[in-house]
Amino acid sequence: MIEINERQISLHASPRDKQEAINLVGQLLIDSHNIAPGYVNSMRQREEVSNTYLGNGIAIPHGLNEHRDLIERTGISVLQVPAGVTWNPGETARLIVGIAAKSDEHIEVLRRLTRVLSDEKQVERLAQTTNPQDIIQALTGERAPETPTTSSQPADYEHYFDAVVGNKTGLHARPAATFTNLAKSFKARIRVRNGERVADGKRLLSLLQIGAERGTQIRVSAQGDDAEKALKALQEALNNKLGEEEAEAEQRTETASWTPRHARETIHGISAAPGIVFGSVKTYVHRAAKIEDEAGDPIEEGEKLQQALNTSQKELAQLHADVSARSGASQAAIFEAHSEFLSDSSILQQTISLIYQGHSAAWSWNQAIQERVESLQQLRDPVLAGRAADLRDVGTRVQNHLTGTQQQEIQLDNHPVILVADDLAPSDTATLDPQGVLGFCTVGGGPTSHTAIIARSLGIPAIVGAGKELLNIAEGSTCILDGSAGKLYLQPDDADIEQVRQLQQQARQQEEAARAERFAHAITRDQHRVEVAANIGNVRDAQKAAEAGAEGVGLLRTEFLYLERSSAPSEDEQFAVYRDIIQTQKGQNVIIRTLDIGGDKEVSYLNLPKEDNPFLGVRGVRLCFEYPDLFIPQLRAIYRAATYGPVSIMFPMIATLEDWQKAAAMAEQVRQELNGPTIPIGIMVEVPSAVLLAHHLAREIAFFSIGTNDLTQYVMAMDRGHPQLAKQADSLHPAILQMISQTVQAAEQEGKWVGVCGGLASEVLGASILTGLGVKELSVSIPSVATIKAHIRSSSLQDMQALAKKALQCRTSAEVRNL
Ligand code: PEP
Ligand code: MG
Repeated sequence: MIEINERQISLHASPRDKQEAINLVGQLLIDSHNIAPGYVNSMRQREEVSNTYLGNGIAIPHGLNEHRDLIERTGISVLQVPAGVTWNPGETARLIVGIAAKSDEHIEVLRRLTRVLSDEKQVERLAQTTNPQDIIQALTGERAPETPTTSSQPADYEHYFDAVVGNKTGLHARPAATFTNLAKSFKARIRVRNGERVADGKRLLSLLQIGAERGTQIRVSAQGDDAEKALKALQEALNNKLGEEEAEAEQRTETASWTPRHARETIHGISAAPGIVFGSVKTYVHRAAKIEDEAGDPIEEGEKLQQALNTSQKELAQLHADVSARSGASQAAIFEAHSEFLSDSSILQQTISLIYQGHSAAWSWNQAIQERVESLQQLRDPVLAGRAADLRDVGTRVQNHLTGTQQQEIQLDNHPVILVADDLAPSDTATLDPQGVLGFCTVGGGPTSHTAIIARSLGIPAIVGAGKELLNIAEGSTCILDGSAGKLYLQPDDADIEQVRQLQQQARQQEEAARAERFAHAITRDQHRVEVAANIGNVRDAQKAAEAGAEGVGLLRTEFLYLERSSAPSEDEQFAVYRDIIQTQKGQNVIIRTLDIGGDKEVSYLNLPKEDNPFLGVRGVRLCFEYPDLFIPQLRAIYRAATYGPVSIMFPMIATLEDWQKAAAMAEQVRQELNGPTIPIGIMVEVPSAVLLAHHLAREIAFFSIGTNDLTQYVMAMDRGHPQLAKQADSLHPAILQMISQTVQAAEQEGKWVGVCGGLASEVLGASILTGLGVKELSVSIPSVATIKAHIRSSSLQDMQALAKKALQCRTSAEVRNL
């Protein structure tokens, strides 16, 4: 509960102007040890970039986020100005509530203020009272808000650098979110200027609105103790394109341009994802939420809003986990950006202010979102304007919860269809089943929308921006969708369809030729065999891996079974999944890695305590020790499934001999209880101490599998997801190669084998050096299986050994890469 006592209240004040009022209300906070004196300056700075007048004679001055370190204790102070003081032209404040809030709970803070202050009569009484207890009573339990808006365009800060945006699609949502997250890790205030437009560098929406497209010169300025450090970091991150990958996986082969001879009509749209398909049309139109503006009780409305935001936040975390597992982290990143929108302080501030003025939560939210969607849509650059779709997607998600609107599920028929829709939000597209949707075509949207990006990653041919006539197509009618040409052909005849079949056939043949050799063993020219297995996350991946030619599963990331849901999977459910995966592998080995939660893999329903250094905290096997209720059922499920085919167990994040022995003992106990088969048990080598202990560990384990992603992170002390450090955190660094070599030597002495399941194994150069170092198994991403196998076949062990020897002598990763 917020602290307030009589010393924090000053009655009958008559400041000359707003500045003096802020000084006075700030002084009260200083006197009661809530803030350091410097925070008053921050309160004044806040007024330059936003309006803290709430309406109804109340203003809530507070400092900038980046100065929260000047707050000693959360608290509020109240300056009563019975005659009023002009806050802004036409706005007179009579109760000035100075806020020092250490917490991030903007909504809660504002909601509580709303409860007290929305009653005009009560405000009048408080503005006149001679008894400070009246104010204390009225405000007890209230806490403080955030209030940035971007009404004025402030000047640059003292320190700055200029940069040209190099990202292919400008500073769009994903790189912008990376930028704001990095900016937030510094105390300095940060602004980003694009010509006349200036953004708060710590707010995603604000940054998107300056419309920085590719090639735009921006100025990033900062002020504060660590300003120079912040600028250096941001400059480097911008140079590294904010960690964005340039190319997106396109899984279908482009088909040559083709026109059917007999189709009756053609709808022209924009190509969003390549490929040609035919099938029957299924129409999907979103249900619009009915937004009522019945003024409810502001407290209830505030609560509704909070609930809707919380639920949406959870859904987005789920979606993120889901898409990560399915299409990879870079495709999923957009849903992180969506989450950022949910905590955008200017949207929340406006929504709460409107609720406070007597509007419903749904109406207020709609208003705040619509305004911003429209301003994004007006940006000249189509890519940035396309971000409006992301904001609308998030806005609709929350709105549906506020209004109780159930979005009709995209119901697919029992045969695959061509989906025709008014629009598909990125979150709709991410959940489409490529087995049920042959292709889709939307009325609106652009080729750089996340809907299009996701379609490409799922390999679903797609057209966007096809116009309203699309919705007149008869449900169930047959059409041909040419995603490469951006054309939808209606009423084709049998001859047209036959031609499409032939085109599809040709495309398939090309793919087949490329993959033809994928089942052949990876045996070098000098007859040395390397096993090439796959990294997978679920049964579907297991099937894909088998089809891609993988020689079993080198890493099953079981945590994805936990991430894609709202409660932990039961032993039986896990058993069924492991059994199914084993069965897909038809006698080839499946290495099941036990739960590796923690670090960057959060599971919301486990309510794990927040850690300052999650990568160095209770993660992987350490978490399993803490939560035997999770670990034991998993081990039981594995041993039960082990009767269906060859299986190995692998423990992640083993740092000590004790870790290994404890985990192995728990597994053995489970095995004995179930009378299960004895299976090989190995460990991941991803913590440097495991390398240094490898000669001890090697005596006891069945195998090592090196997780080069984490090993690199821990050896180099560089966060594996860090946008600035990404280039330096290179697994080909000689320091990492030395660690791998040491592990292999220790294992060989004990007659044990070493595999690599980190990202390095999927790189051609990495695969060569690893093989040369003596690694026997490479577990790679599914699309890399055929390439890595072919590469091994075209090499000789002798050459790779020579290469590895040279690599170990290199001083830098650049030198290794130059080999
Ligand atoms: C690794 O760390 O290299 C690894 C394979 O595990 P993960 O990427 O799942 O942490
Ligand atoms: Mg790892």
